[in-house]
Amino acid sequence: MKEWYRRLPKMDACLADTRVEAWIREFGYEQVKDAFARELGEIRKSIQATAEEAVIETGIAALFDAVEKRLKGKFLGLRPVINGTGTLLHTNLGRANFSEDLAKRAMDKASRYSNLEYRLDAGKRGSRYDHIEGLLCALTGAEAAMVVNNNAAAVMLMLAALCEDREVVVSRGELVEIGGSFRIPEVMRLSGAKLMEVGTTNRTRLSDYREATGSETGAYLKVHTSNYQILGFTESTVLDELVVLSRETGVMVLEDQGSGVVTDLSAYGLPREATVQASIRAGVDLVTFSGDKLLGGPQAGFLVGRRELVERCRVHQLNRALRVDKITLALAEETLRLYLHGDRVGEIPLYWMLGRTLEELREAANWISSKLTESLIQNLGLEIRETQGTVGGGSLPGVSFPSLALVVAKGNSAAQEAKLRQGEIPLIARIQQDEIWIDLRTVYPDQWGFVADRLRELEAME
Ligand SMILES: *Cc1c(COP(=O)(O)O)cnc(C)c1O
Repeated sequence: MKEWYRRLPKMDACLADTRVEAWIREFGYEQVKDAFARELGEIRKSIQATAEEAVIETGIAALFDAVEKRLKGKFLGLRPVINGTGTLLHTNLGRANFSEDLAKRAMDKASRYSNLEYRLDAGKRGSRYDHIEGLLCALTGAEAAMVVNNNAAAVMLMLAALCEDREVVVSRGELVEIGGSFRIPEVMRLSGAKLMEVGTTNRTRLSDYREATGSETGAYLKVHTSNYQILGFTESTVLDELVVLSRETGVMVLEDQGSGVVTDLSAYGLPREATVQASIRAGVDLVTFSGDKLLGGPQAGFLVGRRELVERCRVHQLNRALRVDKITLALAEETLRLYLHGDRVGEIPLYWMLGRTLEELREAANWISSKLTESLIQNLGLEIRETQGTVGGGSLPGVSFPSLALVVAKGNSAAQEAKLRQGEIPLIARIQQDEIWIDLRTVYPDQWGFVADRLRELEAME
């Protein structure tokens, strides 16, 4: 067996191989060497375990692939992907996108020193929230505003700062769970507020809130049922009524608005959603919402409303732990600025995508098809078909809109789907009834060529 071990390649020879150069550039010499040492060790182990000579040859043949897999598995890293799912705010794919121009403007401010917490007029310390407060107030009509890392944090901070040890009245129809980790009852418990459930899953009336009100009541909380719908025999209390009750009882009204919609969605053929500004106009005392859902900005959680309440959130100790970074602030500022100009909302990729017509998507489908050979199109059973896209990201449940997909109708769809997502620039597609559906609404024009590349790679599978 000693003789067998000697047939394994030497480390120096491995590291001198041409394939290895690129790995050393990417991961560094020591890491590559370590990966070879481990894989060679694995081969030695299996020689010992099996005492079979054939193990040497198969081990050597698979060595380089195994090293590459080990390195890439250890240093995964973020990679750009092509979203062919048709879900615009795909939580697994990073929710909202930014335009290149916007990202550049933001990074120009965030990558070097800035006046993040410095007042240039006074030459004194300032607040990082000042840079976007004016924008948020202009947009929503609120008196004051601030931002934390995400909406989960905003809700937590709001409850901790304003309702600690107090009862917070919530409808049983609004005890939501978002994304498997944000659950209203859990957030409430962590914040130190006490949950007071009222009504039933499908019906909660104003009288339920009224009857739950007592000397311990800290707030009425409305939570947007962002990712589900309760249909049929339902009744929920509208904000206006709750505000009227609040004026009577002196209990404040808080709202977790969730999606952060500040624009009229009906312009995009979607059902009209209640906006943040509508909540402020209705008289809600403090509203929280996400930055990377329908606002189309960075991951962030905004709090807008009465100055005194925003101030209490700002100075609360928990805020120090939820503080946003300058990159988030810069991206949020640039995104909010676009809303100052009605005609610039289309620069937000979410709204650009929503605004694309079926004709534009058909142009994409034709362009991609034109880059493929007739025989490949035949072999893949490639077709252009109408489909339905969704907004996703826990927004607008049950709402879909027409879209267009390239469909691979022939072949082993599971294997094809895996192949598409393992390409140089991975393409994430949908499997539907044993076919691959590539929705083109979420694919940028500069990615059309890569979609054609990925489809060409499916030929090799036949
Ligand atoms: C999405 C959502 C959250 C969580 O927001 P994140 O920004 O993802 O932390 C909380 N509440 C509601 C109602 C939501 O829709």
